[in-house]
Amino acid sequence: MAERFETESRKLLGRLRDEMAGDATGQMRLDKITSLIATSIGSEVCSVYLFRDEDTLELCATEGLNPEAVHQTRLRLGEGLVGRVARRRQVVNTANAPQESGFRFMPETGEEVFSSFLGIPILRLGETLGVLVVQSKQSREFSADEVYALEVVAMVLAEMAELGAFVGEGSAMGARHSQPTMLRGTVAQEGVAEGHIWLHEPRVVVTNPVADDPKRELERLNEAVEELRVGVDKMLTNASADKEQKEVLEAYRMFANSKGWMRRMEEDISSGLSAESAVEKEQSLARARIGQATDNYLRERLSDLDDLSNRLLRILTGQGADTGAEMPENPILVARNIGPAELLDYDRKLKGIILEAGSVGSHAAIVARALAIPLIVHVERATLEALNGDHVMVDGEQGIVHLRPDDSVVSAFRDKMAMQAAATERYASIRDKPAQTLCGTVIGMHMNAGLMADLPSLQGSGAEGVGLFRTELQFLVRNKMPQRSELSALYARVLEAANGKRVAFRTLDIGSDKVLPYMKPNDEPNPALGWRAIRVGLDKPGILRMQLQALIRAANGRPLTVMFPFVAQYEEYTQAKAEMDKAMDRERRLGHVLPSEIEVGAMLETPSLAFAPQKFFEEVGFLSIGGNDLKQFFFAADRENERVRRRYDTLNISFLSFIERIVERCAQTNTPLSFCGEDAGRPVEALCFAAIGMRSLSMRPASIGPVKSLLRRSNLEEVRKVIMDSRHRGDMSARPAVMEYLRGQK
Ligand code: PEP
Ligand code: MG
Repeated sequence: MAERFETESRKLLGRLRDEMAGDATGQMRLDKITSLIATSIGSEVCSVYLFRDEDTLELCATEGLNPEAVHQTRLRLGEGLVGRVARRRQVVNTANAPQESGFRFMPETGEEVFSSFLGIPILRLGETLGVLVVQSKQSREFSADEVYALEVVAMVLAEMAELGAFVGEGSAMGARHSQPTMLRGTVAQEGVAEGHIWLHEPRVVVTNPVADDPKRELERLNEAVEELRVGVDKMLTNASADKEQKEVLEAYRMFANSKGWMRRMEEDISSGLSAESAVEKEQSLARARIGQATDNYLRERLSDLDDLSNRLLRILTGQGADTGAEMPENPILVARNIGPAELLDYDRKLKGIILEAGSVGSHAAIVARALAIPLIVHVERATLEALNGDHVMVDGEQGIVHLRPDDSVVSAFRDKMAMQAAATERYASIRDKPAQTLCGTVIGMHMNAGLMADLPSLQGSGAEGVGLFRTELQFLVRNKMPQRSELSALYARVLEAANGKRVAFRTLDIGSDKVLPYMKPNDEPNPALGWRAIRVGLDKPGILRMQLQALIRAANGRPLTVMFPFVAQYEEYTQAKAEMDKAMDRERRLGHVLPSEIEVGAMLETPSLAFAPQKFFEEVGFLSIGGNDLKQFFFAADRENERVRRRYDTLNISFLSFIERIVERCAQTNTPLSFCGEDAGRPVEALCFAAIGMRSLSMRPASIGPVKSLLRRSNLEEVRKVIMDSRHRGDMSARPAVMEYLRGQK
């Protein structure tokens, strides 16, 4: 950049910083800033548009346009040239604005006399806060130096906005992060909660966007980059031979050594930005590009750069992931995404979870369900909008997050919470009654569990036993492989807490998204179809044997129920069962007390097992349908992929017919059958399963009340007829017909 510009730019930034330090109101600051910029750049007009809400931009200050238009002129996102800059997050630089496509004339501003237009997005960490515009009468394009200088100014404006510099009396703009905001997402676990935000990864705050001493800032940048480089190199040498991880780290190294990236940041610093602002400026631009990149490879590399910038920012600001902030009361977690193990680390402290990514079928969601914590996924902008400690209400019925809610929302929401408490009380009144339908059929109601802390629900929910105990949760919470003695003590505690009720322990189901932190991750192209669950157990039987021994010892003379996950063919069952028999023999020889009775079963989670030979059905002790996996394989639709996950309804006639077929095969051989996927906890789904012959269901404890309540009010024969009629008509799903029938029953 030309030297004259550098000096000019530094001078301008110095003035902006003085403005920020002064004690003017937000509006006065903005007015002053627009006039400073116009003078400095030699243009007649300088205006700042900021977002009022998610898709409305408001003219907040101007030098050169009609002052009366301030806070009056508003544009939708994408509307006019200003709206286009905001939507595309790209500069628009034109000598003849009125002839530009998309130009929208706003008579109240008096802008018709200005022909050149330069619009710069005001970005912070990929979030568009507004648009900075300069205009002039003379028809000319702005030079690259001018564009660059204004990009730097826009960066400082973004930081100032973030720090609340434009808020206050006289300014129609509320403080960023202080206005009530409503965000929408997808419900992954129902429930309502009120509490305060706890950011899984706190935002980095930059308090010094402008710096006086570029030399010192360059040194700081270089030192930080060096620390980053050393860190990445260390990760590379430490990393196990895992290919994917290595590739990512190589990409990191490439960026950390990238001349282009460094050069741009050095230029930013020369123009007057502090080292952290320079990093943020480049990071914002990269994030804006991520949004536009269609090429996967490029997107991934830009995400790597984003991650690297985050690390650099944390080094520069000293704001590590652990900022020492104290967790507020009733914490509601906000994160881009979270794994099941990380979630378990929080234990039961959380009252709610809000994720920008995530998916309903993921194991993090299952953990949230096991912990009965309301969870909303796909909440766009959550990590941008929320600040640690913000008051928040999570509506896990509607999938709505009320951030910093106003009084009317607070009172309506509290009414809703009270109503839910009343419903819970109603369910409590049928807790000890059987799930007996109007036609007299009794459905077994069991609960899913995975943590010791789930066991009290066995009494509270009225479940007859634990139909699925996910043993992997105990492996996921640790950072090293648990020992046999630890496991056996734990399983014994579970059996004691169950107090004679049946607990079906499922052996370790790892792989897919359940990755043990202490096991080398596998480089699998398709982990859901990969080396997981019983496949790992049979190929590397050490852990399986250890677990079976722990279970036998835990039973210590009591009955024991064990089931194997993800059995796809008869032989896998016979091999696993042989391991069980061997374990019994070994324990007998070692003189341990054996279980009084032993039941060994399998989970039916792959369509293939439904077509296993007759002798499988005769031999297996019982079957439990893992509907989450079974459905994903039946429809070939990834349970974690939101795009396809909901495409196929559980009440789809093909799926119901398939379940019915399994019911029939089990009936022929008198094989006990139950259903333990998440769908068993959805009242309408559970009712339909019962109507096609399922006699035992296992679900999260909180669902038992609602499911039982519907079953007790229903006539299964009638529901069965509704489903059969729907099938004969050739409906795709039985849901519309069943829902209509249920409405008629009210
Ligand atoms: C299932 O697949 O339905 C199941 C119960 O197992 P998980 O959700 O743990 O894979
Ligand atoms: Mg499963």
